[in-house]
Amino acid sequence: MNPIVRIQPRSAELGEGMLVRRTLPNRQQRMIGAWCFLDHAGPVQFEPGKGMHVGAHPHIGLQTFTWLIEGEVLHRDSLGNEQVIRPGQVNLMTAGHGIAHTEDSLHAGARLHAAQLWIALPPAHKDCAPAFDHYAELPQWREDGAELTLLAGRYGARSAPARIHSPLVGIDIACDRASVLTLALDPGFEYGLMPLVGELRLDGELIATDELAYLGRGRSQLQLALPAGARLLFLGGEPFAEPVLMWWNFVGHSKADIAQAQAEWEQGSPRFGTVGDGRAPRLVAPAIPWRAGG
Ligand code: MN
Repeated sequence: MNPIVRIQPRSAELGEGMLVRRTLPNRQQRMIGAWCFLDHAGPVQFEPGKGMHVGAHPHIGLQTFTWLIEGEVLHRDSLGNEQVIRPGQVNLMTAGHGIAHTEDSLHAGARLHAAQLWIALPPAHKDCAPAFDHYAELPQWREDGAELTLLAGRYGARSAPARIHSPLVGIDIACDRASVLTLALDPGFEYGLMPLVGELRLDGELIATDELAYLGRGRSQLQLALPAGARLLFLGGEPFAEPVLMWWNFVGHSKADIAQAQAEWEQGSPRFGTVGDGRAPRLVAPAIPWRAGG
């Protein structure tokens, strides 16, 4: 059995100064299956007049996967979708060849607690037509004192509705009382666990809030001890076959793909379209650290 790799979060800034904790990608571990990005936002109570505002920005080669725990967020994209996401719901935006979107708190001065993950698209889908899906209801069940919500993929006989393209799983686990939970694992999947609230005990180690415990492959089950009030994300997947490159909001299979996407965003190319009435501020990509064509 592989020892646990403990991955510490780093702070990242979203939109107008909102800080999130980011654990993927990380030097120690770039991905868990096709999951290639993990941001944890909140829980936060915004001051009066304040909220999360992420201006228009592009994506390629990935799906953005938003899981909302508290608050309300308005998604708008360049396909013309406008969708409010509420607690217990998932937004899945398939960027494929290219899309742009904005994300804004629906109400100022409200609470927000969310996780945003990205799922890398496999080579056969990386350039697909963009799409957006909202899932208002997900499979939920109780086990050993915990409430489990299947966010994505399959777990046992259950399947989540999100349209994904790689074998993976994502589960939200919330405990209203102290609980010891046994989870069945697929030995061919690699796994990670991250407390969103509280902590968890695994193989005798205490994993803190926002610390990602990476488990690798080869386990067929897992026992977790959770205190009352703990909440965690459980992620897994078949190790991704191809290495992927990530830069800013792009996932690509070559530096040239990414440089091309960035140039097209900077030129206002129709590849990424216009979000809503086009008045949302457009995010500026940082200077690319390599030359196009690499
Ligand atoms: Mn985005």
